[in-house]
Amino acid sequence: APTLHMENVGFRYRNGHQAVQGFTLTQRAGILGVLGPNGAGKSTLMRMLATLTRPTEGAIVWNGADCVREPDALRRSLGYLPQEFGTYPALTAREFLHYLAAVKGLPHAATAQRVQHCLELVGLEGAADKRLADCSGGMRQRVGIAQALLNDPQLLIVDEPTVGLDPDERQRFRNLLTDLAGQRLVLLSTHIVSDLEASATALAVMEQGRLLFHDTPQALLSQA
Ligand code: ADP
Ligand code: ADP
Repeated sequence: APTLHMENVGFRYRNGHQAVQGFTLTQRAGILGVLGPNGAGKSTLMRMLATLTRPTEGAIVWNGADCVREPDALRRSLGYLPQEFGTYPALTAREFLHYLAAVKGLPHAATAQRVQHCLELVGLEGAADKRLADCSGGMRQRVGIAQALLNDPQLLIVDEPTVGLDPDERQRFRNLLTDLAGQRLVLLSTHIVSDLEASATALAVMEQGRLLFHDTPQALLSQA
């Protein structure tokens, strides 16, 4: 099973702001919900785990390998849906995924099949040939997940994916992530508790950059 370990991870922005501090946890397959109010440090943490920014302190270890010094192994098994993910309105979902598969350097011969598979995984096969301009916010979020799945990642990172979705779309999105979790580790950041109580394997609660709590949702609710 995939294993992510963080040891005393911290991040200080250039202006001196310490956004993440003393973060230590180990997590295997399933859904790890990262919960905290705006400004808690969730996006900063996600960007470090996506190897887009290096921790200013501590170590991140993926399947036994130090991925701060050697990020490539993690990058090959990483899918990332950033908070600010944008699609391209003039393209269809299928065209957009083809484009990203080429940008990501996926083998050309396998692309059409892989794109189709990812469209099916997120339940978009019926809308694959509609322009993204004509798709709902929920559908575009599914395209975001589909692009993160193109390389069949073992670690899937999704940052505040339910912002702007209506309650129905939110529920479908939660079900989708639960289906995807299986053998993968899914990291889901949110400030909405109901995104996580039913679906998360574990919760990491953050406040002002610190990890306050890391346990099952049941354990958290029994304390509340
Ligand atoms: P989030 O929506 O994750 O809470 P923020 O609203 O805090 O993110 O920030 C949005 C973007 O603005 C961040 O990606 C960050 O790069 C930038 N930003 C936020 N706060 C500051 C700051 N104090 N100084 C400079 N840039 C900032
Ligand atoms: P969250 O995703 O939980 O809302 P962020 O990781 O976006 O939190 O931000 C954590 C803290 O770091 C916030 O106080 C934010 O204003 C600050 N911050 C974010 N980006 C920057 C930046 N580029 N420079 C300085 N401070 C930042």
